[in-house]
Amino acid sequence: MLEDTGLTGVLKDGEEAVYAVGEHFLSLVTFLGCAPQISLTDEAAVQGQPVCRICLHDFDAVQLLESQPASTLRCAACRTPQRRPSEPEHNQQLTCPECGESSPLFRFDWRRSAAFGCFFVEIENVFPHEAVPADRLMEALEALSGHGWDYFYLSR
Ligand SMILES: [Zn+2]
Repeated sequence: MLEDTGLTGVLKDGEEAVYAVGEHFLSLVTFLGCAPQISLTDEAAVQGQPVCRICLHDFDAVQLLESQPASTLRCAACRTPQRRPSEPEHNQQLTCPECGESSPLFRFDWRRSAAFGCFFVEIENVFPHEAVPADRLMEALEALSGHGWDYFYLSR
């Protein structure tokens, strides 16, 4: 289905769920900044620059993918920094000591540096915060899956 949208192209040799970018990639992902540096194919890759790839991650149970170092977790209501649980669970209820807002952990503000989920579409080798999924991509993912989608940036 992702291939039909033009997000993904051919499966990379020897890989299970890693794809080249598809023919509509540049209309599905918007690049901010005046001169984004991206290489879309091996042939056109700038010397020393890794090529953009799409990796699918499919987990049986909800996982937390989190940047290293992690951003400060904040209350979504009042923005107060929160103590991060040592073993975060997505549905774990947390109460903000500042404003009393109580929500499951996944609703707190992870500052787009982490996310809980079972299925992830990772776009590799773009600069964090330079690439933003276009509305068209988010709508296509929602239509394909029947669920809402969000995005974040994973630094490792
Ligand atoms: Zn709060």
